[in-house]
Amino acid sequence: MAKKKWWRIVVAMQCKDCGKTNYHTSINKTNTQKLELTKYCKQDKKKTSHVSREKLK
Ligand SMILES: [Zn+2]
Repeated sequence: MAKKKWWRIVVAMQCKDCGKTNYHTSINKTNTQKLELTKYCKQDKKKTSHVSREKLK
């Protein structure tokens, strides 16, 4: 069995403007900083800031 040295979790990327979840990405669990990316939002039809939001199970 492989050791879980790099624990990656799936997070949702949520649009700051409309709050819609547009993307999913995986981040390193040890990196607790909030991820912020500029991505295209289909809802707003423009590039907006997307912040990472941990997926709830
Ligand atoms: Zn949006």
